[in-house]
Amino acid sequence: MSDATRIVGLEEHVVLPVLLEAWTLAGVPQISQLGYGDEPFAQRLRDVSDRRLADMDDQGIDVQVLSLATPGVQNLSTEDSVTVAREANDALAEIVDGNPERFQALAAIPTPAPEAAAEELERAVTQLGFRGAMLYGRTGDTLADAPEFDHLYATAERLRVPLHFHPQTPVPAVMEAYYSGLGRTGRGLATAGLGGYYDLGVQYLRMIFSGVFDRHPELQVIAGHWGEVVLFYVDHTGILASSANLERPLVDYFRENFWVTGSGTVSERYLRWTSEVVGTDRMMYSTDYPYTYATSPDGYAFLDTSNGVGRTFLEQAPFTEEEKAAIGSGNWEQLTGHVVASHAERSVPLRVRPADTSPHLKSSILITGANKGLGREAARRLLASGHDVWIGARDPERGREAAEALGARYVAIDVTDDASVAQAAEEVAAATGGTLDVLINNAGIPSTYGLDVADVTASEVEAVYAVNVFGAVRTFHAFLPLLRRAPNGVVVNVSSGLGSHAVTSDPERIESTFQQPGYTSSKAALNMLTAQWAAALPGLRINSVDPGYTATEFNGHSGPQTVQEGTDAIVTMATIGPDGPTGTFADRHGTVGW
Ligand code: NAP
Repeated sequence: MSDATRIVGLEEHVVLPVLLEAWTLAGVPQISQLGYGDEPFAQRLRDVSDRRLADMDDQGIDVQVLSLATPGVQNLSTEDSVTVAREANDALAEIVDGNPERFQALAAIPTPAPEAAAEELERAVTQLGFRGAMLYGRTGDTLADAPEFDHLYATAERLRVPLHFHPQTPVPAVMEAYYSGLGRTGRGLATAGLGGYYDLGVQYLRMIFSGVFDRHPELQVIAGHWGEVVLFYVDHTGILASSANLERPLVDYFRENFWVTGSGTVSERYLRWTSEVVGTDRMMYSTDYPYTYATSPDGYAFLDTSNGVGRTFLEQAPFTEEEKAAIGSGNWEQLTGHVVASHAERSVPLRVRPADTSPHLKSSILITGANKGLGREAARRLLASGHDVWIGARDPERGREAAEALGARYVAIDVTDDASVAQAAEEVAAATGGTLDVLINNAGIPSTYGLDVADVTASEVEAVYAVNVFGAVRTFHAFLPLLRRAPNGVVVNVSSGLGSHAVTSDPERIESTFQQPGYTSSKAALNMLTAQWAAALPGLRINSVDPGYTATEFNGHSGPQTVQEGTDAIVTMATIGPDGPTGTFADRHGTVGW
């Protein structure tokens, strides 16, 4: 194998201060295997600089794809898992940014909150540039094939990023029934010896048999430990394919939906068997650092990748040079290279620190026009992240229905009416103690569709401005005292690419094909309000966002984007921290020209 062949290790663990803090609060045992204390092993797990790089050089590994040690955030409470995952991913992104030649990362995913899990995956991939995520099998008693994870799996499928699964300790009943009575050896047998691999392997089979891959045929899973035992029994278990009504023979799921690595178990027997079952074009590489670093009790030969073994094991594999290069890094690039390319295309990535980085902080957020469309979806997403959301709507019936369905609060607000807006501000102030953290000026109406420019009258434009411009001014004015009292007041003005001269004059953009003087100029005016307010009020973060052309009632559902995509920029700008931007105009890909 050529010296230049890159080896990327996909299962290389780390623990971060935020994770240790959260685990401590959750009562997790403070043992060195989880990164507590001063033993060299725990120090290795925590280190993300010189010591780790020296160990990688010693192993012969070029790049580590960092992931949290098991079980990541999957043993935290619903609320904490969301905030800790987000904070951990931001920290991982910073580590990668500091040394992109040697580090990549797999995102932490808050599976205790399945909807927020899908959102965090999307944020990690589209905004932080992660190439996939690391999951840890069960979440409490809920196994990986549970239907509540369908949205997460659909999101991974849509983003075309793999989900790496990692074993964790089996549930207490299994521990007791199968591994008790053997003392320390029993605990080892239940976890890193064998039990954790069976536990995860059975969950892979459950995912296949329950139809996860039939519903998500493009979903790609990375399995470590040479296929978590079940790969070795596939010629036997395959007999269940017909009783499970599988759409394909069992082995085809492993060949089409799985990628297999060895996790630092340097056994050539396993390597050969894996290549026979799934082929070298479905194999990748990992060392399970630091769990297989300098760990060879009594000279045991199969679990130590130090002293160059991480590299020589692959170099001496019985494959062609091309196959070894593919396993080392080529297959990984082929699977995930598109994420790097699309991330690099973004001029200014929306990488901003979310305001809610503490497990116990939540923002109060008012969204106008939130009974349907983008406002309602933004409300759903922000609620899923643990925030306190007010659905603002002019129609009480529609507003209450949306608030009840989502578990939000409702406030009546017609943005064209002084008394209604003043009353809404009073109501919110009374409930929050006089503050509001985030105002999202989302209510908006379109121009009359199909009207010839020559027939556009002042009253037609006035009607559009009444909501899109004066409505935003009225709401901002009434809520400004509340925003000023918040520790980190944020305003998001939901504008449009149609309000940007840069966008509408670009013949490549669909926005250049619309001529609607009323609507386009109303959003241009809203952008200038953003710029003026931001310049005058440096204590607040005030930004315009363009959702992009999105299927809602607004356009007869003609937009190509989903409401989830359409709310990416809104949600991101609503959750920026005190060091976030102000006076900017952004869409889900980055900066928009004025
Ligand atoms: P939508 O589904 O039509 O929702 C608009 C919302 O605004 C509705 O809740 C509507 O309430 C509310 N609204 C209208 N007039 C109001 C008033 N006087 N007071 C309070 N609320 C009022 O449209 P959407 O697509 O979600 O659009 C949301 C925002 O995104 C708008 O500002 C729009 O300009 C902007 N935008 C949309 C797209 C897109 O492609 N969809 C693209 C760029 C920008 P009712 O249900 O009572 O009418």
